Amino acid sequence: MKIRIYGDPFLKKKSRFVDKIDNEITALGKSLIDTMFEKDGIGLAAPQTGIDLRMLSIAVPFPKNRNQQQPLSMSPGEIKLLPMMPMVLINPEIISYSQVLESAEEGCLSVPDIYAMVTRPSSILLKARILGGDTFTLECGGFLARAVQHEVDHLDGVLFVDRLDTEEFSNIKNKLDRLLKQHKKR
Ligand SMILES: [Zn+2]
Repeated sequence: MKIRIYGDPFLKKKSRFVDKIDNEITALGKSLIDTMFEKDGIGLAAPQTGIDLRMLSIAVPFPKNRNQQQPLSMSPGEIKLLPMMPMVLINPEIISYSQVLESAEEGCLSVPDIYAMVTRPSSILLKARILGGDTFTLECGGFLARAVQHEVDHLDGVLFVDRLDTEEFSNIKNKLDRLLKQHKKR
């Protein structure tokens, strides 16, 4: 699958809900995972590949400072989902956000070679259906919370560069402009 790059109007589209999980959706889920790994990503939303459906693949690694021996220090979402990675989430929905915010560096397969600090709620209540599995509603913290917020943003036509403060944005503006120029040439 080809990845849409910054400047592609498709990345600004709001995607549609998946209403039936059929063979096509299952195959698409597999392609998302394959493409994500091929490009060394840890998340890939369907619209990044030109498909306007609310589904995404994700492969959040176990946190380095925490491990399976200390599952109690992890959020319920991490405890359930991290051992199942990679996975495809269908119609993910963020029901609520923590008031506590956290900043960390993010990048994106659709914004190649550009990284910036993004401030987001540090934990979320996530409802989603796992492709080939059940529907869950769980509190997710840690890097999982950030990765899911980043990917769900794609389903609403939002990129991490849209969430930067003025200073962070000005730091990467030249690089973004260069990407836009490349896009116009294609
Ligand atoms: Zn992204």
